[in-house]
Amino acid sequence: MSPISRHIHINGIVQGVGFRPFIYNLAHDHNLTGWVRNSSSGVDIEVTGEAHALDAFLLAIRASAPPLAQIDTVSVHDIAQFKEDGFKIIHSQDRPEDFIPISPDMAVCADCRSELFDPRDRRFRYPFINCTNCGPRFSIIKEIPYDRPKTTMAAFEMCPVCRAEYENPADRRFHAQPVACPDCGPHIWLEQTPGVQDLAGEDAIKAARQYLVEGKILAIKGLGGFHLACDATSQEAVLRLRHRKHRPAKPFALMAYDLETVQEYIQLSRAAENLLSSPQAPIVLMPAYKGTDIAPGVAPGNNKLGFMLPYTPLHLLLMEPSPDFPKALVMTSGNLAEEPVIHQNQVAREKLSSIADAFLMHNRPIHRRIDDSVFTMVEGQPYPIRRARGFAPTPISTSQSLPQVLGAGPQMKNTFCLTRDKYAFISHYIGEMENWETYQDYRQAISDYQTLFRISPQAIGYDLHPDYAATRYTLERIQAEGLKGYPVQHHHAHLAACMVEHHIDPQQKIAGLIFDGTGYGTDGTIWGGEVLIGNTLECSRAYSLKPVPLPGGDLAVLKPARMALSTLWAYGLPWEESLAPVRALSGQEWEILQNQLEKNINAPLTSSMGRFFDAVSALIGVRMEISYEAQAAIELEALAEDDELGYYPWRLDGPQINFKETLEAILKDLSQGASQAAISARFHNTIAQLSLAIAELIRETYHIEEIALSGGVWQNLYLLKRTIALLKDAGFQLLIHHRSPPNDECVSLGQAAVTAYRYLHNKE
Ligand SMILES: [Zn+2]
Ligand SMILES: [Zn+2]
Ligand SMILES: [Zn+2]
Repeated sequence: MSPISRHIHINGIVQGVGFRPFIYNLAHDHNLTGWVRNSSSGVDIEVTGEAHALDAFLLAIRASAPPLAQIDTVSVHDIAQFKEDGFKIIHSQDRPEDFIPISPDMAVCADCRSELFDPRDRRFRYPFINCTNCGPRFSIIKEIPYDRPKTTMAAFEMCPVCRAEYENPADRRFHAQPVACPDCGPHIWLEQTPGVQDLAGEDAIKAARQYLVEGKILAIKGLGGFHLACDATSQEAVLRLRHRKHRPAKPFALMAYDLETVQEYIQLSRAAENLLSSPQAPIVLMPAYKGTDIAPGVAPGNNKLGFMLPYTPLHLLLMEPSPDFPKALVMTSGNLAEEPVIHQNQVAREKLSSIADAFLMHNRPIHRRIDDSVFTMVEGQPYPIRRARGFAPTPISTSQSLPQVLGAGPQMKNTFCLTRDKYAFISHYIGEMENWETYQDYRQAISDYQTLFRISPQAIGYDLHPDYAATRYTLERIQAEGLKGYPVQHHHAHLAACMVEHHIDPQQKIAGLIFDGTGYGTDGTIWGGEVLIGNTLECSRAYSLKPVPLPGGDLAVLKPARMALSTLWAYGLPWEESLAPVRALSGQEWEILQNQLEKNINAPLTSSMGRFFDAVSALIGVRMEISYEAQAAIELEALAEDDELGYYPWRLDGPQINFKETLEAILKDLSQGASQAAISARFHNTIAQLSLAIAELIRETYHIEEIALSGGVWQNLYLLKRTIALLKDAGFQLLIHHRSPPNDECVSLGQAAVTAYRYLHNKE
């Protein structure tokens, strides 16, 4: 048999993850000659050898790829036979049109971790130890192809020992761009007075730990930005942080040293443990055990806690267990209110000095800020709540090749999304766009992604709301660049996001139970409790909640008590003086509210399901005023008793979902002294039963079996789990978010999908 030659091209996350040395070693194992090189669209390989060896080589590429690699496609074709001495790694080829996905930042790997604590290792206790299988990526990359001079490590010249490792294909650090050691790499220090670097290295870590032991607040520069940390078992420390950060109640994320410690605090399935200890290392939000030593101020009114594991070597050194050191730390984003997380030393000094008692800093610049990701689990699978570090900028694969478009994203929980080929690049979590700094960050990030992934959008999809920052941005660009613009209704975007994620044919009609907070409707009112029938191109409203006024607009969102009274008013039910929301408002407020409702002054209509949850929460006395988004609904969910099976009646008036009987039954339960726990459970069960009843009607009327569940309300796991069980039992096919969050973070993906297909359609 004579040898043959083949060309292999591999697409996916194959750069900066040890792919070429892997191919190099694999080629040697199979007695192949030839070469491998990075191209800006992936990895190219040309090999010569026996046919059976080539086949085995191809199989092994997929079967034993390095841990951080993600192979999307492998294309192979025969080429004229060529002879090469041995197998080589050759220079990158960069063509301006090509692009490749970039690896997200990954948690410190097991090998680096054991070297970190090995006194014989030259990187013993070095806070920046990393290798091809772990460490910073996306947060330090300035340009592609991914190469050290194009990262924030360019300023650190490698010492001869590091360089030898970097250049040796047999080494774990071969072409690990952030490779460094104590002799040549970045270092840490502590600032007890902002701007004064008074302790370095081990002394800095020791002193930083002491701050935490004493209940003080520490600002820590991490991988994608700063954290504010304190002892999570000290109520005094937690309240001090809340007071200084002006954050009265929104839950704090936690970090514990190892899985065993986290297991003491929250209920973890095997799948949840795997997610927690994965290289992506997100915050995992799970039911908390009662009676642990976590301070009650960490997540007041909440029955879940969010934990993550130390994901950088610095976190490991800082959190090393000792008898006096806290078993869990609060690790919350280092920012002010709704501003983006701070990622630069000088900005941290300026903005966080009124919060932090000391700063643990380092001199490895963060090029791109990125928040921690947050996940929970549904049906044994990860369910995203916030998608950022470890996940962005990994694209979501699409079933068809898409034109280059931008989905500009929503106003709250903003992300944007760019498409190209069979990829949808949802950005990392950007945040609240009414904040000026966030908006600047947004503009910057879009241009950054366009450069990195070499995308120039031909069209932009944007929200119908005329005052949204992303809408203004879009209209500006459409004018300046002559692009096509496609307005996309907010809840249609939710539906489309679910469809793209699940590779549903864009022409296929499905139904969506889009239960959400706020979204601008096609009739100019505020939607949010919508049952939609449609596909990626278009959709219509099959059912929706009976609209009720939002007296005072945003004020009604901040004060669920107003929402409760407005809901009673809209349904013609009296404001009994014994009701909690009636008692919560002053006489004057009460009169103004009544006036607003009766004369229709600043009381826009909404069909929002999120607001209905707020109303019920206040009605039964759970939460009258909120200090963070969805607080009233979260606290209502936390109260629901698991074993309560009953539910309340409701009614359909044509396409309108009418809750009059539901409210009457809740009022009756209240007057008979039923517990909040029982009412909450029955209320949740009602919405699950309603979902089933509507799904059945849709099946009868439209012969549709596929039901998408999207919108912020589906972050309510009590509701989600019961709805899934009912709908699955009835034989429906459920589309649940697993790649993008069900909340407004998925809207940009939906906008991009709708825009891409409308653009294709119009061109035909
Ligand atoms: Zn490593
Ligand atoms: Zn070195
Ligand atoms: Zn939404």
